[in-house]
Amino acid sequence: MKNVYVFKVALKHVKGLWRRIEIRSDQTLGNFDRIIRDAFNHDTWDHLGEFYKERWSQGGYGEIYPDGKGSGTGKQIEQLGLSEGDKFGYVYDFGDEIHHILTLEKIMEPEKGVKYPRVISKNKPNYRYCETCKKQGQKTIAKWICIECSEDKESDVILCEDCMEEHEDHFVDEILY
Ligand SMILES: [Zn+2]
Ligand SMILES: [Zn+2]
Repeated sequence: MKNVYVFKVALKHVKGLWRRIEIRSDQTLGNFDRIIRDAFNHDTWDHLGEFYKERWSQGGYGEIYPDGKGSGTGKQIEQLGLSEGDKFGYVYDFGDEIHHILTLEKIMEPEKGVKYPRVISKNKPNYRYCETCKKQGQKTIAKWICIECSEDKESDVILCEDCMEEHEDHFVDEILY
């Protein structure tokens, strides 16, 4: 019995950022919401998520709260009636509206001993480098962006793990690759 769905989940408004996710047909949109949040560094303590068919404005499958509750949580993947090649949408954060396009690439047999859902691959990262280190002639991958300093300087202040310590009291966000 084939019951693992392989989805490519891509950010709609940022080019080149995607994750390939496997989920079992009997798992729910609540399970899917959770792994998308993890895979894209979205909060798991704030903001709503919702899956939808074509346009979110035409209504979705129901709200999903960060704690996994909500009217859109219980629906099973197989109840969506999807075939290979079908697309649907997911929105995270009803204020900022971060939209994702989900494409069902394949339905396949489950692998023994694998815990689903899981991320099996992702886009090739297009790394940016820490600006503080750059000034000292070093090339270190930036992991954080300081939102406060970026707003002050009106350009992205991006930092490696070590250099982030000086911004610990600021509002920083993890950079998604
Ligand atoms: Zn640095
Ligand atoms: Zn800062």
